[in-house]
Amino acid sequence: MPTTSATATAERTGVVLFTCDLRVHDNAALAAAAARCERVVPLFVLDEEILAGSCASANRLAFLRDCLADLDGSLRDRGAGLVVRRGDLVAETLRVASRHGASSIDMSADCTPYAARRRERLARACAEQRVELREHAGPSVVAPGEVTPSDGGHYRIFTPYWRAWSGRVLQPAAPTPRRLSAPADLPELRLPAIPARDGTAPSPRIARGGEGPARERLTRWLGGGLAGYEEGHDDLAGERTSRLSAFLHFGCLSPRTVLERARGRPGAEGFARQLCWRDFHRQVLADRPELPSRDYRPRGDRWRRSKRDLRAWREGLTGYPIVDAGMRQLAAEGFMHNRARLIVASFLTKTLYVDWRAGAAHFASLLLDADVANNVGNWQWMAGTGNDTRPNRVLNPLRQAERFDPDGAYVRRHVPELAGVRGRAVREPWRLPAAERRLLDYPAPIVDHERAARELRGRRER
Ligand code: FAD
Repeated sequence: MPTTSATATAERTGVVLFTCDLRVHDNAALAAAAARCERVVPLFVLDEEILAGSCASANRLAFLRDCLADLDGSLRDRGAGLVVRRGDLVAETLRVASRHGASSIDMSADCTPYAARRRERLARACAEQRVELREHAGPSVVAPGEVTPSDGGHYRIFTPYWRAWSGRVLQPAAPTPRRLSAPADLPELRLPAIPARDGTAPSPRIARGGEGPARERLTRWLGGGLAGYEEGHDDLAGERTSRLSAFLHFGCLSPRTVLERARGRPGAEGFARQLCWRDFHRQVLADRPELPSRDYRPRGDRWRRSKRDLRAWREGLTGYPIVDAGMRQLAAEGFMHNRARLIVASFLTKTLYVDWRAGAAHFASLLLDADVANNVGNWQWMAGTGNDTRPNRVLNPLRQAERFDPDGAYVRRHVPELAGVRGRAVREPWRLPAAERRLLDYPAPIVDHERAARELRGRRER
């Protein structure tokens, strides 16, 4: 991990700038500052530029607030509470450093194009003010660039990446500081209200954020769910995945810790593979910063611009119950099961033939775990413009429902209009007798999936 050279003598005061690492365990930036400095100033900046973007949804801001309150509690227990500022991250960080006479800033690395630009600015400002900037292990098990194919760059295909990734020896965890000393005049935490840009309120059923809930969830998962992960991870109604993604995204857990604690247990291999996907997309993004807006592998698509179809998809009113259930879960919980994400993404890009960017933007505005690399990487994968080796695969929503929600429990849970429909009609309500159908208040399919799939193949294979 790139850091500037270590100083031999103890520094008096250092800032720890938290970004995507809202935890005290296995946090290399915090551990390094605690070991080196007599006093630390833990800092989080509510970055105005991020707050103005579409990712700063009400769901995510509520989750972030929990994370910050939890982090403050853990830091305060150790002797130095969290300072929260709002504004330009570079200006605010240097202001805090100067106010406390800090000579260094420790922070975690990140791979998004925005984080890279911000880090450049921070590095320049630090150099001007003679403050040392030290960067540490970021939110990956294997950092982008740490394993590369023989011809350099990044891995384009998952399987060889998985082989290289699995062969890496895990770095030891960074020690958790037991005591921290803070400057005497460190202010008490005042967490400002962080209203969403669009004025919406968070969904009532979103998870609570923070390292405490994350560690509890991980412990429960390792003791219970992990063993059935291999056979159960695609079971839509069964909730048999870890639900750790938002905690990983905000850095309430280090992915290295998650992997290490899972290793050797039944189910660990399949689970490790998913953590590897997370790093896979990050190494692609680090090498291809244009990924959020440009097709990774252009296929000459001329996407349909149907506002009506996009609205029906967003609102979960496509008339395909399994698609609508996924979209309603997203709206209600700020989360969607991975299998449902695949189904709804295929439906938008392959069946409705609407641009993946519109889907990714909608996901980013609601998902707690919305993450540039994984959101865009998975959308492009499903749209066939990314790293999928079978770019024209189309998921049939009926067959997917039959396989992964065979008794319709997932649909009934998320689509209340269909809660009382019995048998296979819950997957195909259009087969019900007209009189029953009229009572449902549920739309007819907005598109004929089979025909749309044939058209897509025609377009792509032309
Ligand atoms: P588990 O099945 O328990 O997996 C464990 C962890 O592995 C997850 O928490 C996650 O960190 C990682 N993981 C699992 N699957 C993937 C994957 N396909 N790609 C990358 N990492 C993975 N994941 C995000 O974290 N952020 C996103 O913005 C995001 N957008 C997606 C968009 C689409 C269209 C699709 C198809 C998938 C997306 N995913 C995203 C991946 C995946 O759906 C979620 O990570 C997963 O559903 C989270 O649930 P879980 O924690 O229970 O996962």
